[in-house]
Amino acid sequence: MADLSWLRVGGAVDLLFQPAHMADISTFMRAVPDDVNVMPIGVCSNLIVRDGGIRGAVIRLGRGFNGFEVMANGCVRVGASALDAQIAKKAAEAGFDLTFLRTIPGAIGGAIRMNAGCYGHYLADVFVSATAVRRDGKVVTLKPQDMDFAYRHTGLPPDLVIVQAVLSPPKGEPAALEAKMAAALEMRAKSQPVKERSCGSTFRNPAGFSTYSGY
Ligand SMILES: Cc1cc2nc3c(=O)[nH]c(=O)nc-3n(C[C@H](O)[C@H](O)[C@H](O)COP(=O)(O)OP(=O)(O)OC[C@H]3O[C@@H](n4cnc5c(N)ncnc54)[C@H](O)[C@@H]3O)c2cc1C
Repeated sequence: MADLSWLRVGGAVDLLFQPAHMADISTFMRAVPDDVNVMPIGVCSNLIVRDGGIRGAVIRLGRGFNGFEVMANGCVRVGASALDAQIAKKAAEAGFDLTFLRTIPGAIGGAIRMNAGCYGHYLADVFVSATAVRRDGKVVTLKPQDMDFAYRHTGLPPDLVIVQAVLSPPKGEPAALEAKMAAALEMRAKSQPVKERSCGSTFRNPAGFSTYSGY
């Protein structure tokens, strides 16, 4: 796991599964015996894996799941393995404000699972729905009422694999969004050692507030 994790630590997992497409995940879930733990991961920026590794199976979504698409209804569809920063940049180019994702080092699946947020904006604010695969292999659509969003929290089962999501971000001018992202990067660099592999914030913000929301 050290090769896959943000902090470059962690022993071996029993089984690492990298699906090519959604049907692969369903097939895998049905094939794995019920008593084997299954855990989806993103880029492990919110995980520290112990030296003893992970017992069970880890599912890591790859390139087949990193899409970004503007939908006819004015929403965007994003793949779970796409990096938050990449999605923020692609959205800005298309005139959508997902700038709060620009400085978060994770991927979209982890951002949804953790209700990632920055500078007063949260994934929950823009969440419309997500497609996910359950432990029994069934594909389900999750709506906001299924999520139990709270500060860095959802109530999703730990073995549910989020595959993609539909988000409804506010609109913005690409140049203004670009400037907002540059300001966010600057702000982050002032408050965290961005050139080191740190864990980011060590403490929770009080009562769901971010420390700065004025940019
Ligand atoms: C330097 C640094 C700065 C950070 N700054 C912020 C910040 O500003 N705001 C913030 O909110 N967080 C921040 N974080 C924490 C972290 O980046 C977020 O929690 C991020 O959303 C985790 O995404 P990930 O892809 O790395 O998920 P992982 O760490 O791989 O997994 C986190 C959780 O999500 C689950 N998960 C991952 N992918 C999926 C999937 N496809 N389907 C279902 N479940 C999944 C995992 O099982 C696990 O429970 C920071 C971390 C670091 C190291």
